Amino acid sequence: MTSTVPSPLVLDGIVIAAQIKSELAAEVAAARDRGYVPGLAVILVGEVPASQIYVRSKVKTCAELGIYSEMHTPDASATTEELLALVASLNAREEIDGILIQLPLPAHVDTARLLEAIDPAKDVDGFHPINAGRLLNGTPMEKILAPCTPAGIMEVLRRSKIPVRGQRAVVIGRSNIVGKPIAVMLVNASATVTVCHSQTRGLAEITREADIVVAAIGRAGFVTAEMVRPGATIIDVGINRITTAEELEQFFPGDAARHAGFAKRGSTLVGDVDPAAFALAGAYTPVPGGVGALTIAMLMSNTVKAARLRRG
Ligand code: NAD
Repeated sequence: MTSTVPSPLVLDGIVIAAQIKSELAAEVAAARDRGYVPGLAVILVGEVPASQIYVRSKVKTCAELGIYSEMHTPDASATTEELLALVASLNAREEIDGILIQLPLPAHVDTARLLEAIDPAKDVDGFHPINAGRLLNGTPMEKILAPCTPAGIMEVLRRSKIPVRGQRAVVIGRSNIVGKPIAVMLVNASATVTVCHSQTRGLAEITREADIVVAAIGRAGFVTAEMVRPGATIIDVGINRITTAEELEQFFPGDAARHAGFAKRGSTLVGDVDPAAFALAGAYTPVPGGVGALTIAMLMSNTVKAARLRRG
């Protein structure tokens, strides 16, 4: 008798992001009927090409959903004091519901001071200590502005009906942007959570126990098939660009579409999980087209939410 292993479920971030955006467009239209338009102000300091691409795509998505947006582009030489004054002016404006400072900022700017100067009610990136504290306190997600990438992961799990309550989750990475907040969100959703990081010993033994693995490390293909329990859900947050034929062959042997894309562009993206590990999974988020696709949708969601919460 032969046993067949079921194909893993692909958790399609593009489809889920489209669902979220269409719900938001309806909510924005309803807000307009009630007499207000959610508004986002984006601050982009200097000319960092990658940041310019991200910001353009945020502004474009606002337009698609009917959200008002405006860009502020201070010169790279802007001082912390000048940027604080800009944030203060945006805090004071009634029609601005969300303030986003595109990171990273030039080295001379005091990033922490600037992020803490944003009115917590307008902190659509969810990085303000007040909002981080509310998340830690277990305030329900619908009442807080939570960091976009981990909030997007929770949406993927919820909308894909992946059980979380009582499940064992292992988060690899402890950054303030992804690792720590997703660990807290999973605990708040009643998972049993272990957080691993660069100093963790016996990582593979720990990850093999997990029903849900969240990889947020920043190293191409770091999580291998040996580190994953068959049937586990794998959430791959990593975005790593590979540019050598050796890596292409290592991660995507025989994958004609990847090879064709690589031949055209000279690079391709791989997550923190070796694609060979996905074959064992019960469900997984691909790279690209997984978690990354959710981040802007969740920023839009936070902007609409901030507008709603600010108006009681
Ligand atoms: P980070 O560099 O701030 O944190 C990386 C974490 O990995 C650290 O906590 C570190 O302890 C851990 N780590 C490093 N080496 C390790 C090892 N050998 N074993 C176990 N843990 C180890 O990175 P970040 O900002 O959290 O981002 C992680 C990845 O997620 C990056 O690839 C980034 O590009 C990606 N990312 C994607 C999105 C998105 O999809 N929109 C958003 C944020 C980050």
